[in-house]
Amino acid sequence: MSAEIISGKEVAENILTTDLKSRVEKLKQSNIIPKLVVILVGEMKASASYVAQKEKFAGKAGIISEVQRFDDNVSEDEILNRISEINSDKSIHGVIVQLPLPKHISVAKVLNNINPDKDVDGFTPFNVGKLFLGEDTLVSCTPKGIMLMLESKNVDLSGKNVTVIGRSNIVGKPVSILCQQQNATVTMCHSKTKDLDSKLADADVVIVAAGVPRFISGSQIPEGAVVIDVGIHNIEGKLCGDVDFESASKRASAITPVPGGVGPMTVCALIENTIIAAERFNSA
Ligand code: NAD
Repeated sequence: MSAEIISGKEVAENILTTDLKSRVEKLKQSNIIPKLVVILVGEMKASASYVAQKEKFAGKAGIISEVQRFDDNVSEDEILNRISEINSDKSIHGVIVQLPLPKHISVAKVLNNINPDKDVDGFTPFNVGKLFLGEDTLVSCTPKGIMLMLESKNVDLSGKNVTVIGRSNIVGKPVSILCQQQNATVTMCHSKTKDLDSKLADADVVIVAAGVPRFISGSQIPEGAVVIDVGIHNIEGKLCGDVDFESASKRASAITPVPGGVGPMTVCALIENTIIAAERFNSA
């Protein structure tokens, strides 16, 4: 079997230039242009290229994206003050703080200070709690992007077995909740899971977010499964994921590539969240 390649790049492009663009046009009729602010601390190369992609996608949907840059040695208070200014600025609908932050700045403190209505990364405890309760909320971008991608490929999760590898707050945990909300039976695996192969054996969908290059090989993928590879690694100048693409694509029915899979969908979800925040602001 040779797998269908699920191009996140194409799915994202389609969503950005049709649905999202027309929603932005509608908001513009009420004199609202959705605006996203990205707070970038320091000069991490990976963060910088990710931020560049955010700006590009924002342009495609027609929203404003502004990057506010700070030196590595910026104080925690300065960041908190800026967040409080953004919280009360009515022209800004969404804010994200690009992680990681330097060690002297508390990520928890920073996230706790973001107004949940503008928390377009869906990382604040309030929005995470609402997601857990199944309430309408701003859902964190990578899990949301994965769900949008599965939906675009008409993957019906109801009654299916989904194995998620990784239990991080930003990927593994929220994506497992979203899959359960779609009536999937979810198996969560992590670094202490015993006999990973048996947890994968009856999976219809495999979502890998372990942060280990080419961690899952084709022999572990059940024939015909859909494989979503969240990982992204730069190995000697070449990008790869958490899944060994070459062997896995021989077993899967569909698989996401790295790059061009989950990455663009994450950014697309961020743009949609900013538009949702602006739509709510408009109807408040
Ligand atoms: P993380 O490091 O916070 O969590 C990794 C998880 O994998 C942990 O829960 C850990 O228990 C589990 N794990 C580690 N080794 C394991 C093993 N041997 N067996 C089973 N489970 C194991 O990672 P994260 O933030 O969720 O990110 C995961 C990967 O996804 C990274 O490569 C990251 O760069 C990438 N990522 C990509 C995007 C994107 O938009 N493409 C977004 C977020 C993260």
